[in-house]
Amino acid sequence: MNPIQHIRRYQDQLTEWRRDFHAHPETGFEEQRTSALVAERLAAWGIEVHRGIGGTGLVGVLRNGNGDRAVGLRADMDALDMPEENEFAHRSRNPGKMHGCGHDGHTTMLLGAARYLAETKNFDGTVHFIFQPAEEGQGGARAMIAEGLFERFPCNSVYGLHNRPGMEIGHYGIRAGAMMAGAAFFDIHVHGKGGHGARPESTIDPVICGAQIVSALQSVVARNVPPADTAVVSVTGFTAGQAYNVIPERVALRGTVRTYRTEVMRLVEARMRALALSIATGFGATAELAFREITVPVLNSEAETTLIADAAAAMVGEAHVDRQRPPVMGSEDFSYMLAERPGAYILVGNGLGEAGGCEVHNPRYDFNDAAIPYGAGILAAVVEREMPRLKD
Ligand SMILES: [Zn+2]
Ligand SMILES: [Zn+2]
Repeated sequence: MNPIQHIRRYQDQLTEWRRDFHAHPETGFEEQRTSALVAERLAAWGIEVHRGIGGTGLVGVLRNGNGDRAVGLRADMDALDMPEENEFAHRSRNPGKMHGCGHDGHTTMLLGAARYLAETKNFDGTVHFIFQPAEEGQGGARAMIAEGLFERFPCNSVYGLHNRPGMEIGHYGIRAGAMMAGAAFFDIHVHGKGGHGARPESTIDPVICGAQIVSALQSVVARNVPPADTAVVSVTGFTAGQAYNVIPERVALRGTVRTYRTEVMRLVEARMRALALSIATGFGATAELAFREITVPVLNSEAETTLIADAAAAMVGEAHVDRQRPPVMGSEDFSYMLAERPGAYILVGNGLGEAGGCEVHNPRYDFNDAAIPYGAGILAAVVEREMPRLKD
């Protein structure tokens, strides 16, 4: 019996837990109830629990045999600040909060893998079950790493997953290399010299200068980023004066940059700074660029990508594993764990149509419970494959 088949035996209990998490969504760093329930369940299976790592984060440790290898399995626990529009019985009971990204399902899948591994112990080494807070833009992965995640719980490799609406149940998608983009936010402030709208000659107009900067920034992707690389530069905010007849003193631009390679992110930042500052100088104004990284790209290492894809294919068949899944421009903070350790991030089908096809972050989204054994199963399977038990 493979892990997926075995974990199907826990389907009713796992579904009940998943719906309970869904009904009680907690947003970043406030996952008190969720992490308490996770800790209680891990402990009940004899797994050593370490709480309070990166706020509400926790790690479960399960050892078996004498092997000195360790594998980290990671799930995110946080919900979103958004009102839910579903009407089923397990809809959110916390107004304005919703498990709109399926992290209720990811938490449940990792619990399923933990129960299976604790019961079957068909591996030789150590498993670290990493339950992460605050994936949705608040830096939960970084918080756990900063508090010594990989020093306290050394891992040879680390694996994570995400449900994917529109991909069939029982299907997986992955690629080696860049799977998701790195993201940065930027602010540009242009300082000119304000004055009367009818006397432009006595002013340094930051609006004209800002508009030139917006246009020029589009040349970075078109003319500086190599065509075989990918980047997005979007100016999403332009804040200037208030009155019809006042040329303002300053304008503020803001926006986001996405790339698949950190080197390209650095190139884009350097070109943006050079353009903004030199255009401002040309107009007799001054400008400054504040550029802050939000996530690094999700980079799957070759060996671990092959290992998890092979583990999936062994359970569901090669035809159900897309090993060349196209990358997307979205981002995911598991990337920070992958920057520390080799590993892989795999997509697990959430189904099509009514049951699982609704896109994440939509007020009608729901995680599809039929995906639980596939997510739990693949996490368990990588442990058995990477740290096989020696036959005696
Ligand atoms: Zn999300
Ligand atoms: Zn998510």
